[in-house]
Amino acid sequence: MRNELQGQELSGAGDSDCLTDRGFRVQSRRSTSEFTVVGFGDDFKELVRSSTNLVDLVSETVSLKPIHGGRDFIGLCPFHDDKNPSFHVYPDRQTYRCWVCDQGGDCFRWVMEMEKLPFPEAMESLARRARLEVPKKKRDDATSDNQLKKTDSLAVVEWAVNLMHSTLRTSAKAENAREYVKKRKLSEDTVRNFRLGYHPEDWNWFLDQARARFTPAQLVAAGLIQERNNGPGYFDNLVGRLVFPIIDERGRPVAFGGRVLPGGNIESDAKYWNSLESTIFHKRRTLYAFDRARETIRRSKTAIIVEGYMDCIACHQAGVTNAVATLGTAMTEDHVRFLRRFAEKVVLVYDSDKAGQDAAERSISRFLAEDLDLRILSVPSGKDPADYLEDHTSEEFYALTASASEAWEYKLHSILQRISINTIAGRQQVLNQMMEFLAASQGLAGSIREDMILRNVCGRVQVDERMARQQLKELRGQTQKKGFTRRDAERQPVELKTRVENALERAEREVLEIILTCPESIDVIRHQIGADDFENARHQRLLDLCIDVWKEDGDLPELGRMIIAAESDSDLLSLINAVVDSAEEKGIFRLMNDQPNAHEKAGGVSAPSHLERVLRPILERREKRLNLVSKQLLAQPAQSMSILDDGTIDALRRLHKFRQSQMGNPTEMK
Ligand SMILES: [Zn+2]
Repeated sequence: MRNELQGQELSGAGDSDCLTDRGFRVQSRRSTSEFTVVGFGDDFKELVRSSTNLVDLVSETVSLKPIHGGRDFIGLCPFHDDKNPSFHVYPDRQTYRCWVCDQGGDCFRWVMEMEKLPFPEAMESLARRARLEVPKKKRDDATSDNQLKKTDSLAVVEWAVNLMHSTLRTSAKAENAREYVKKRKLSEDTVRNFRLGYHPEDWNWFLDQARARFTPAQLVAAGLIQERNNGPGYFDNLVGRLVFPIIDERGRPVAFGGRVLPGGNIESDAKYWNSLESTIFHKRRTLYAFDRARETIRRSKTAIIVEGYMDCIACHQAGVTNAVATLGTAMTEDHVRFLRRFAEKVVLVYDSDKAGQDAAERSISRFLAEDLDLRILSVPSGKDPADYLEDHTSEEFYALTASASEAWEYKLHSILQRISINTIAGRQQVLNQMMEFLAASQGLAGSIREDMILRNVCGRVQVDERMARQQLKELRGQTQKKGFTRRDAERQPVELKTRVENALERAEREVLEIILTCPESIDVIRHQIGADDFENARHQRLLDLCIDVWKEDGDLPELGRMIIAAESDSDLLSLINAVVDSAEEKGIFRLMNDQPNAHEKAGGVSAPSHLERVLRPILERREKRLNLVSKQLLAQPAQSMSILDDGTIDALRRLHKFRQSQMGNPTEMK
């Protein structure tokens, strides 16, 4: 199967090149710059986006209700005469979409539609709303932001890491920082291994040091400096902070975290500062210290996730070398997908304080159905891991993680701390909350895991198992019904346009679902097909954009990146939303991961079988078309053949013969 596919790929590529030269294939590739709005930097646009809460914004016009346990919101659509709420807002994607009239977009599109404003004014309106100052005029050297290559930013960050590291170790200006490092009992080795650094209390330090080496625009793109809001010029980030370089999975520094130092002259509300998202830094996917933890994680098949830089470093220094940290966010689906490539078990370690518990509980339900042994650990007596490891050994810490509760146990435990089961009403309440918790996880339904959890919960709360199952079924039924209305609503616009999506369009769409669910598949897919293999124009546009993001920026076309790349294009955003939703409903991620590590075989070029199945009809259509073209050409009278040179005619003959041998008698195809 795989060989056959690769064979097609090789011969297909060669043949189509030959035809392309003759102009038989129309290039449909569009540049993303077509959608780029000039006048504002991408950075500022993303700042406005990230400073805007779409749910709040939409709520100013539409009354929204939370669904799916608060993950999504629905309301009556303002764009069509809506009787049942069909208008969805997705907080995690910061996008909206109507399931009936198919209007969709992000915060910019929303303001453009509702207030009938062109993009620049919509941007200004949102910036004002977020109390951000709109940059007056783009600086000349900053306009090339978009062209700045990832490699430039990587070089700039690497340079800054070395500069700040040597400053921390030797500069007279870093006395205060060295004292802090000593007080936190970080060893010389630790400082060197984690390449810790210090930025002196000088707001133009980077700029001065980088002179003749990097331009201000390059420093901005790498997140080292920012343009001043009030007047011309720039100022440094990280001033007066102890700096933790953030290293990506390939061992390259891509961003920074910085901690304010006690006894310094820099006052800041934020104890920690993290780099913003950039072309090289993706917060939701990156884990601090993964580069150092990778080997132990792989060997022990266990990853320990702590909350901050200092905890993580303390773990490593004490010998807990499979510790990583999230970067100012709770654990995300991206983290889980990433870690599952190396680990079977993940232990989330939280401080025992209330804030830590809340964060843990919020993130749990999302991962309940994941095929991963997720444990939650609260370090005893309210300590954080760094404190604990000051007077305990790594063995003792590992013993704690080994006895950590499963995620559902942790949830039950935290409910039981609030509600007593000494009364019948109390038991009922605990059961209600646990069943809601379980019902929220769709993927869990009917699984052995759910069965075991139910049995345990019922035993603990002393309630009848049959009753609990019944209750869970009813809760699930309600969610199921919602699922049906969603699907029905989606079908409506298709019928309105009297268009039936044919099997090939479904296949095209599933390719897009696969790309947005498993972005790393783009590398395999783009070698098999291009946008002109798609029939549907919207599908073509989205595939084009995915390939552009991958080829031009070197980014995986993952959801967050694609939403940014879609540049507030309503049609694209709406399609992206629809594709992600249907991918979730079909369980594409699971289908793609039926064969673990399929991507890693044969140097990453082998396609998993689900992908092969989806691509097959599209590849077959291309085969048929090519076959038809070559047949028609060969059937033409000699004079029209004479416009082709001998080499081309020969190539066409061979192509025709090859197709015949591969697909049987071509007349059968008519
Ligand atoms: Zn609508």
